This record gives sequence, structure tokens and C-alpha cells, in this order.
Amino acid sequence: MFLEYAPIFVGSACNNNCLDCPFHGTERSFRPFEEIKKDIDAVKAKNIVISGGEPTIHPDFFKIIDYANSKGFKRIKLRTNARMFAYKEFLWKAIHKGVEMFDVRLLSNKEKTHNFLSQADSFRQTMRGLENLKEIPNAKTNPKAPLPLLEFKAAVQVTMPIFKENSSQALSVANFATRFMPTYLLFDFGKASFDFTKNLGFLFQALDKSTDNGFWAMSAGIPVCLLGGFEEQASELYEKTPAGCFLEKCGVCAFKPHCTGIRQGHSEYLKKHIAPLKPEGKASRLLDMMDGFE
Ligand code: SF4
Ligand code: SF4
Repeated sequence: MFLEYAPIFVGSACNNNCLDCPFHGTERSFRPFEEIKKDIDAVKAKNIVISGGEPTIHPDFFKIIDYANSKGFKRIKLRTNARMFAYKEFLWKAIHKGVEMFDVRLLSNKEKTHNFLSQADSFRQTMRGLENLKEIPNAKTNPKAPLPLLEFKAAVQVTMPIFKENSSQALSVANFATRFMPTYLLFDFGKASFDFTKNLGFLFQALDKSTDNGFWAMSAGIPVCLLGGFEEQASELYEKTPAGCFLEKCGVCAFKPHCTGIRQGHSEYLKKHIAPLKPEGKASRLLDMMDGFE
């Protein structure tokens, strides 16, 4: 059973201008509330994720949350850079109105790198936002729970998108995160535009360290056959993810029916590295684990 979030897009305007943003270099604007309402009305899924742009600076942000809340969704997730949550009252209002899951984008634990990748003087505000989010009751987690967000009322996911410039910092981010103790930490390789296979060692150290540090960490955008020993920490096993492509080698992989494949632009780097799983061993262990979610 996957967690599924229907996306609600509020427009492209943002107070950052990240280098990997799909709207980087474009003229940005917000969508009117009436249009967003219609999208919310059309949702069939139990959960929604509100994203942009930066939803917290939409002039009707609280109206959007109120409206979504009135529809009785199981969970409202907010994808955000958390800069507005540097203002505690603003954060508490968002929680009070029904945001239950905060997905915060953190680009580095180093101010210079974070500001460079976000193309804005954003690090200190994001940090203050994360510190304030730490105060959410029950945001801490049991590192042994495979999907801790299912167990808590309000939760904080910190997502670190991986670039060439920050890929060696995953371990430092895993240590740095002890300051604000997220519910979980996600290292997202989905849009990485370089051959990251040489950097997987940093990821594995970071996944390991996160558990030692008391929170769960996962990867995104890396096929399970490359996660030597950390397969159970692939976010794709838990949350519904758009399918990528499959390569010839995948044809003989026992995990293929459940794999979300290879993300756009990664097949050139990964074709040498992917290793089809045999029916016994890893594949059967993962399938047993996935059956256990039902
Ligand atoms: S915070 Fe998100 S929406 Fe804003 S510029 Fe960065 S990637 Fe784009
Ligand atoms: S070999 Fe292909 S199908 Fe199998 S896990 Fe790797 S990417 Fe997925």
C-alpha cells in the first residue's frame, strides 16, 4: 500500500530562485484562489500536497489551507522552503489550520552553498523555520518505524535535493539535522544532473548516521538495485512516485513489476551500474516487506 498525495499547484512565484527549479529564469506568478479551489474539488486521493512556487507567500495561502481542510483530506502536506516559518505565529497558524506534514527543502548545512543553490539569501530564514518546526508536538520519531509519518499528527520531512555542489555534504547534513530532529530526512537524487554513482558512499554513510542520530532517512531517485544494503530506505517503496524508464537489463529483474525505474536523464549514467535482482534474496525480502504494509 503506497501513500498517495494529489498535487495542488498554487503557481510558480517564490522567494528563492533555486538552480534546479523548473521555473528558474521564467516570469513567475500565482494562480488565483478560484482556480486552485476547483483543483481541490477535483481531487480523488485521500491526501494532498500543496506546492508551487512557494505556497506560503501566496496572498491566499491561509484561504487555500482552510478550503483544503474543509474537504476532509486525511493529510495535507506542504512543500516549502520554510522561510516564512521563521515567523513563529505564521507557522502556528498554518498548523492550527490543518497542515500536518511539512516537506522542507534544505540545500546544504553550509550557508554559502545553500544560498548559492537557492540563488537567494535564504539559509538563515530556512534554519529559523526548521528550528520553529522542531516545536511541533510529536514531530520526533522512532527511527525503527519504516514510515514514521503515518504515526504522527504533524510531521517534518527535510528534503535535500542532490546537486554536484552538495553531494559530498549528505553526511554533514545528517549530523546537522540533529539540531531540528526531522521526522525523516530525504536525500533526493531525482534531478541530479551528474553521474552520482561515485558519490553513493556519502549517501550510505548519511543513511546510516541518520539512524544513529535518531531519525529515519531515505533516498529518492535511485533504483533499489543500486542501494547495496540500504534498499529498505528507498522512498519509492512507501510513497507513490511517477514511473521512470527501464533499460534492457531490467527485463530480467525480479523486482521490475514494483520498481519505479530510472529517472529522466539518468539512464546514460546508470546503464553500466544497474544490476537486475534475482527472485530469491533481496527481491523476495523487499517484496515480503512491501506485502507487510497491507
Ligand atoms: S524553493 Fe522550490 S519553488 Fe522556490 S525556487 Fe526553489 S525549487 Fe523553485
Ligand atoms: S534492474 Fe531495473 S527494474 Fe531492477 S531494480 Fe534496477 S532499475 Fe529497477
